[in-house]
Amino acid sequence: MRSILVCEDEAAIRDFVVINLQYAGYRVVEAASGEEALEKFDSDIDMALLDIMLPGINGFEVCRELRRRSNTMGIIMLSARTQEAEKIEALSLGADDYVTKPFSPSELIARIDALYRRVSAAREQPAEEIRSGDFTLNVRNRTVTKDGVPLDLTQVGYQILYLFFTHPNTPLERTEILRQVWGESYVGAEKIVDVNIRRLRMKIEDEPSEPVHIRTVRGQGYQWTA
Ligand code: CA
Repeated sequence: MRSILVCEDEAAIRDFVVINLQYAGYRVVEAASGEEALEKFDSDIDMALLDIMLPGINGFEVCRELRRRSNTMGIIMLSARTQEAEKIEALSLGADDYVTKPFSPSELIARIDALYRRVSAAREQPAEEIRSGDFTLNVRNRTVTKDGVPLDLTQVGYQILYLFFTHPNTPLERTEILRQVWGESYVGAEKIVDVNIRRLRMKIEDEPSEPVHIRTVRGQGYQWTA
């Protein structure tokens, strides 16, 4: 069931919002303060609706903390003011959308439904980037950067790194690397792996002769360590 955390200190507004959300099919977790919202947060909650003006920690701080804990949850800020600066601050802290009071129930639900569609679509997509220490692999572009600088890789080099990044700190046998990167028909040609590992080390290691990222594990193969 789609779920949303509602953080609003004014009981009348909170009740109004909660009833409308429940009517629209949401499981609602209620909080009357930012502290309570952070306490009640759990990773199963899809979205949060956060009032900005709260006693104790304000909605901006709640937003920042929720975003630190989850980069997939949807966050909508609620404000009594229409100040552009406040809107920009909310969005820069990781909020996805912003609703100004007073709002109609249909407007609020439409915005929340729209965000829910974005959140659930994003969750279904496989990760676009895989990070490993200073390295970032972009699955869509099939590129890898080190400290933000693109590495000049062949497609085979990319595929080997993809295999390593998805199996960090695990020794991978040459035959396994060969099978995953080149396919079954190359079995028996483990030397190809060694040659390509040597090339990769030249590109990614600070000292290719003393590799720290692609290590040789005697008798077991190669192991990636970020
Ligand atoms: Ca308030």
